[in-house]
Amino acid sequence: MIINSLPETRLISFEDVLDKVKKIVEDVKERGDAALIEYTEKFDGIKLNEIRVSKTEIDNQSKKIDNNLRNAIEIIIDQLKEFHLSTMPPQMGGGKNGIEFGIMWKPIEKLGIYVPGGKKLYPSTLLMASIPALVAGVKEIYVATPTKGEIDPAIAYISNRLGIKEVYKIGGAQAISALAYGTTSVTKVEKIVGPGNVYVQAAKYLVSKDVGIDGIEGPTELVIIADDSANPEYLADDLFAQGEHGDSSLLVLISLSDKIAKEVEKRLSSSDRKYYVVLANDLKEAIEYANKIAPEHLSLQIKCPREALKLVKNAGAVTLGNTPPAIIDYNAGPNHILPTNGWSRFKGGLTIYDFIKPITYANSSSPNKDLINAGITLAKYEGFVIHAKSISDRYE
Ligand code: NAD
Repeated sequence: MIINSLPETRLISFEDVLDKVKKIVEDVKERGDAALIEYTEKFDGIKLNEIRVSKTEIDNQSKKIDNNLRNAIEIIIDQLKEFHLSTMPPQMGGGKNGIEFGIMWKPIEKLGIYVPGGKKLYPSTLLMASIPALVAGVKEIYVATPTKGEIDPAIAYISNRLGIKEVYKIGGAQAISALAYGTTSVTKVEKIVGPGNVYVQAAKYLVSKDVGIDGIEGPTELVIIADDSANPEYLADDLFAQGEHGDSSLLVLISLSDKIAKEVEKRLSSSDRKYYVVLANDLKEAIEYANKIAPEHLSLQIKCPREALKLVKNAGAVTLGNTPPAIIDYNAGPNHILPTNGWSRFKGGLTIYDFIKPITYANSSSPNKDLINAGITLAKYEGFVIHAKSISDRYE
């Protein structure tokens, strides 16, 4: 179905399922493994004997991938490492008025990664989350992924290759609650990252009062801005491609050319899912529309993408010109774990900064007198006389 106006809301939002998910999260927090087993049977139709995947199963399954897939994974590991290494922060610090100050970056200790697995397999997501975490120095990584039968061979191979500590065959809100609060079989973590459907996202939102989360990365979103230099075949491919994730994907074409819009609509008309196709008068207007939607993926299939990039305010990741958005999903380097639901207004995709914490420090034996007095004056003004004394006793 083609809709010739901008989308007013997302097709589905995690807020729609918050009440239902709250019950699941609390139940798992209270009853642990027993609740996990019940929900896995109810929502995934699987009777779990073991929640944690055994080392033997991981070893056996990881042997099942062929050389071609193993090589592909190795090439992608290299590419993603290069991107994330290029973004490592330098040691930061300096000094002023006799004070030495700085930032010490420390990795979080225990990380939970959610790898979706309801409708499709996502070993790519395991790479996207674990590589920046490892580059950042995280030592213990725990993975939850809904699994029918034995663990997927590619997920098993990547888990072995990257030294994942434990893998659990659980999905949905129940998996997020287990990682957040711990159960007999599942290790409690400090932070949970990874995309998933609305149940996963609602659960992440709810547990975020107790553990860190990377954000809300729900059903995929793609906005393409195209002019008459774009290829309608490729435009349709890109929209169909992001539609592969599931029915909730938000798919939008903002066209600067009536001819291109019509050609793409012709190709989309055979599909029964929702596509938004709108015309913009000029590039400025097109970018304004995109900024308002604040999409996960933005694709600039226009003659001057670099110029347009400067005007982009809200987007998770941007591909320029003829670069297919799907290259971000697999092998360009930047992350495919990206904000949805308009969250790109205030945050970006997963980077090493999601895995390190800045610990600041200060050190001084003889600060400048004016600086000492400034601190004492402000502390006294606030009524914190002992704060003031603890400074003045040392330095005055
Ligand atoms: P999923 O693993 O996210 O969800 C499957 C789980 O949902 C199941 O294990 C089940 O427990 C739970 N569930 C299913 N129906 C339920 C119900 N009625 N009530 C309660 N729980 C229920 O897998 P998925 O469904 O395939 O979704 C993956 C999503 O991840 C897609 O929407 C895709 O677009 C998105 N994604 C987003 C990004 C991003 O960065 N934004 C990246 C990759 C994938």
